[in-house]
Amino acid sequence: MGKIVQLPDDLSNKIAAGEVVERPASVVKELLENSVDANSQWIKIELLEAGLRSIKVIDDGDGIEPEDCEKAFFRHATSKIIDEFDLFRVKTLGFRGEALASISSVSQLTLRTSTGDQTGTEMIVHGGEILSQQKHTKRKGTEIIVENLFYNTPARLKYLKTIHTELGHITETINKMALSHPDIRFECYHNGKRMFFTPGNGNLLQVIQQIYGKKIAQNMMKIENDSLDYKITGYIAKPETTRSNRTFISLIVNGRFIKNPVINKAILDGYHTFLPIGRYPIVVLQMEMDPYLVDVNVHPAKTEVRFSKEKELFDIVKQSVYDVLHQQTLIPSGVKKE
Ligand code: ADP
Ligand code: MG
Repeated sequence: MGKIVQLPDDLSNKIAAGEVVERPASVVKELLENSVDANSQWIKIELLEAGLRSIKVIDDGDGIEPEDCEKAFFRHATSKIIDEFDLFRVKTLGFRGEALASISSVSQLTLRTSTGDQTGTEMIVHGGEILSQQKHTKRKGTEIIVENLFYNTPARLKYLKTIHTELGHITETINKMALSHPDIRFECYHNGKRMFFTPGNGNLLQVIQQIYGKKIAQNMMKIENDSLDYKITGYIAKPETTRSNRTFISLIVNGRFIKNPVINKAILDGYHTFLPIGRYPIVVLQMEMDPYLVDVNVHPAKTEVRFSKEKELFDIVKQSVYDVLHQQTLIPSGVKKE
């Protein structure tokens, strides 16, 4: 008698959820990515107890058609890629078709959605099981409520940190998402209190101001560089404004915020002697490139990427930072007004 069994779907979804949904902030990230991919112009986030009790994301995006609602919860079911060719030219934030399957397998989820031209749908999914699907009138857009995250995976629940820590992770996620999409209006509430909003008018400096405050925004310098393969834009802080850790360096590739030690190093090398030892700058760097030049299929959380011409990008980033800082120091202080 053989010993190998094919695991049932609900169990394999739970296993996959371990990689995709590490903590409430991962749910927020995945839901926001879906709202961005659905061409939303406005996204509202409502949290209760740092998302441990409830995470609600509402958008005014494309919505999901009634016949697609059930499929949206299947694993590896996506409207964003259809073949291998697409996988190497991903233009959307999502493409793995895993998030809704994973999130709904470890929470109690409600989906309300409408494409605007037909009656909307409401679905309730608890622990991966669809409890109900019914018609729902609603204006165009999608609302997803994730309650009692990890209620059926006690080990994961135990591993979560304090409300304060989890809220910190969520705030960082929303900040980076807003910095990546200055054209989208974000609004965030925690326990009924407004934490944060962005105007959604495409002005990155205004988003920086909402997140880091007016003083820092006034101390940022514009960075811009166009090469054959890469277009770099964004803001870097004057060297006198530094921080004690790297979390204030935001790297954005084609609208996706990423973590990348190589680009971090390029920035720090560009600052070179301008930075005191152990201090880090505040940077928001947007890098646009042909999707073919960046592989986003490295890890389920999609924040790690691989660049096919890493050295070239490293040099361009380093040089761009260096140039901005040196132009700045050539101008006698007091002459240049922001
Ligand atoms: P992926 O984003 O990788 O495609 P998800 O599991 O996150 O996978 O979502 C599955 C599908 O559900 C998406 O491909 C999309 O078609 C649909 N979807 C999810 N969230 C939204 C949303 N907010 N607005 C419109 N469609 C959505
Ligand atoms: Mg997704």
